[in-house]
Amino acid sequence: MKSAIAKVVVDIALDREFDYRIPAHLATVLRIGSRVQVPFGSRTTQGYVVGLAESSPHPQLKEIGDVVSKQPLLTDKILELTRWMGRYYCCPVELCVKCALPEVVRKSKISWKERQFVRPVKLTLDDLAKLAKRAPKQFHALEILRKTDGMFVVQLCEQAGIDAAAIKVLAKKGFVELTDKVEERDPFGGEVFLPTEPLALMPDQVKSLALCIAAIDATICRSGVPAATGPTPTDHDGATASTSRTVPKPVLIHGVTGSGKTEIYLQAIEHALRHGKDSIVLVPEISLTPQTVERFRARFPQQQITVLHSHLSEGERHDQWHKIRAGQSHIVIGARSAVFAPVPALGLIVVDEEHETSYKQDEAPRYNARDVAVVRGKLECAAVVLGSATPAIESFYNAHHGRYVLSALPRRVDHRQMPVMRIVDMRQEVLRQKGLHVLSLRLRNAIEARLAKNEQVILFLNRRGYATHMFCPKCGYVAECPNCSVKLTYHRKAAQLACHLCGEIRPAPKVCPNPDCRDPAIRYSGMGTEKVEAAIQAAFPKARVQRMDSDIMTRKSLYREIFRDFRIGKIDILVGTQMIAKGLHFPNVTLVGIIYADMALHMPDFRAGERTFQLLVQVAGRAGRGDVEGEVVVQSFTPFHPAIQHARQHDYLGFYDQEIEFRQQLHYPPATRLVCLTVRAKTEEKAIFFSAALVRELRKHIAGTDLLSEATPAPLAKVQNNYRYQIIARSPQIMRLTEAIAKVVTSTKLPPDVTLAVDVDPVSLL
Ligand code: ADP
Ligand code: ZN
Repeated sequence: MKSAIAKVVVDIALDREFDYRIPAHLATVLRIGSRVQVPFGSRTTQGYVVGLAESSPHPQLKEIGDVVSKQPLLTDKILELTRWMGRYYCCPVELCVKCALPEVVRKSKISWKERQFVRPVKLTLDDLAKLAKRAPKQFHALEILRKTDGMFVVQLCEQAGIDAAAIKVLAKKGFVELTDKVEERDPFGGEVFLPTEPLALMPDQVKSLALCIAAIDATICRSGVPAATGPTPTDHDGATASTSRTVPKPVLIHGVTGSGKTEIYLQAIEHALRHGKDSIVLVPEISLTPQTVERFRARFPQQQITVLHSHLSEGERHDQWHKIRAGQSHIVIGARSAVFAPVPALGLIVVDEEHETSYKQDEAPRYNARDVAVVRGKLECAAVVLGSATPAIESFYNAHHGRYVLSALPRRVDHRQMPVMRIVDMRQEVLRQKGLHVLSLRLRNAIEARLAKNEQVILFLNRRGYATHMFCPKCGYVAECPNCSVKLTYHRKAAQLACHLCGEIRPAPKVCPNPDCRDPAIRYSGMGTEKVEAAIQAAFPKARVQRMDSDIMTRKSLYREIFRDFRIGKIDILVGTQMIAKGLHFPNVTLVGIIYADMALHMPDFRAGERTFQLLVQVAGRAGRGDVEGEVVVQSFTPFHPAIQHARQHDYLGFYDQEIEFRQQLHYPPATRLVCLTVRAKTEEKAIFFSAALVRELRKHIAGTDLLSEATPAPLAKVQNNYRYQIIARSPQIMRLTEAIAKVVTSTKLPPDVTLAVDVDPVSLL
């Protein structure tokens, strides 16, 4: 059926959508993604179609004036992808479309940067001789220009030491030609990278690359005649491929840190490139460091690579996106949203560190870029390669059940040893040291030994601040956030108590704030990175210690600076949060200390064990990447927890086996699929009322065999003055579940101060 109504986001009222009627003559050309001209108030403006509908609740609609550009911003396939997202993640397609287009492109506020360009023209020797005599400066500029095919006027002015007026004079005389030319804003400012050659691969790498290449080759159309196929059931229900090329299964590379996964990606991309296919590489935002990007930029021709990261200016983002859309960029590297990069000839999507939770967007649409990548691969018939040292349990489960092809790289390149991991039982340590100290004797001695040898140390604690809470031993007062159901963290240097959820900050009190108590003996307990830094500095006064967490990352460039200082040996000990846990390579780091391994274990979340295992293995991977053997010291109060014991043995399979058993027994993903609905309201009564009403409604629509919980307070029961109630729904068939939920959600009217978030495949239940 033809849609009669277009939902349009207009340039002058950006955050709202307006309904317009579609005139008959535009019905065939207008699509989601079309740029259109529309009447708005007393004027006309441009806008952009984000949705289509059969009817509108508004009676007197205006008509779309015209379609501005023939080529819609979204390709058919990406449009199809956003439709799938809408169904799968229970979310309006408009939101998914917005996600697929960067704001700067959607609102077309910015255009290409055009600048005056000057080209040489053919001249007689006579002309030149005259010019040399009469205007030597202009002649000099001309000489510079004639060695090139042309350059921007500003460049010539700079090189020849003349001003733009002089170049205009030259143009008037007919000695040069002036035009406007698009200048691409280059985020790398012409930075040059030393080119690298493909490395000769290790045997495991050879096998792994062969699987990737087989997947890429399967997508290359041999007959060139794509035939239509009917819908087929898939693991990502509802998404089906539409051509006769075989859609290859995604390849999951399970390779320990340092096993050479990145080299495999590079060579797979090269293969795709040779066959005229484009690649997208997804990395977690935190890994979009110069170190990673450099490896890609050094391997491929500069013009063909685009790096999309959050530091791009709007202009740069505009240019890069349009360059990709125009098919001028064949390799795109970026974080989550790069999965929507509109490369025209997609052949390969690589998702590095596929287990990373940052691939999941925490606002609607709550999509996971890894899963969207798999579906996009299916829709566009492209190879998908997922890589990790600690694959998500879901991904390994998919491989186990034949949905993904598994490739294992169990050894480090050159057979370097995995670091030895020693577990310190902190319960014993408390007895031995007569109290709880930041450093166990073992870790302390290990640091001392490494410092003596001029080797470097990383200490990891995934919590910033000094102490995790302040309390009064006399009256029992505990400082809590007035807006959230958490305790305030003490930051010693700033002398503040802060809430890490809502940002509430208050001066740290000197006496108990309880008006009836006022005792000065208030205590701070629990520890954060600031306390670790202080303890290390006290224990090793001569060591150069640097802390790295979001509290001190006040400038973007600081990240680079600290890593550079660490690399060149200006820092002995780096103390940090998860910021330092990710794919960095420091050959001189021989010791990694994990101060408190149990922290993630105590989260009320079925993924607590998985997160702990992943974190320990990833952090341990930072040790011993050079020639010296690495060592990891893990401090724990639950040293026999399976997540910790399996991490100690670097035993992913062992961990997976026991974890999957637990998930199966308790009906958790991936044994079943899970959707979390969170109702937020300003008062607890409202949260209770509406979440209970929602449960009643859901019961009517959800299949009898599916599981639906009662509404209960979320583990974080209050955030920013919003009370949060949760409903958990589980089903072996996710599409059946999300369809039922979507039906209920669209028909449920909530008051404006009550919101509902639907999270399909949530990565956290807090
Ligand atoms: P991963 O991505 O699995 O952590 P990397 O690709 O970063 O591993 O490889 C670790 C190191 O080994 C890098 O310095 C890389 O250049 C090097 N390397 C990778 N493959 C080879 C190879 N086949 N021969 C020699 N060095 C290699
Ligand atoms: Zn708060």
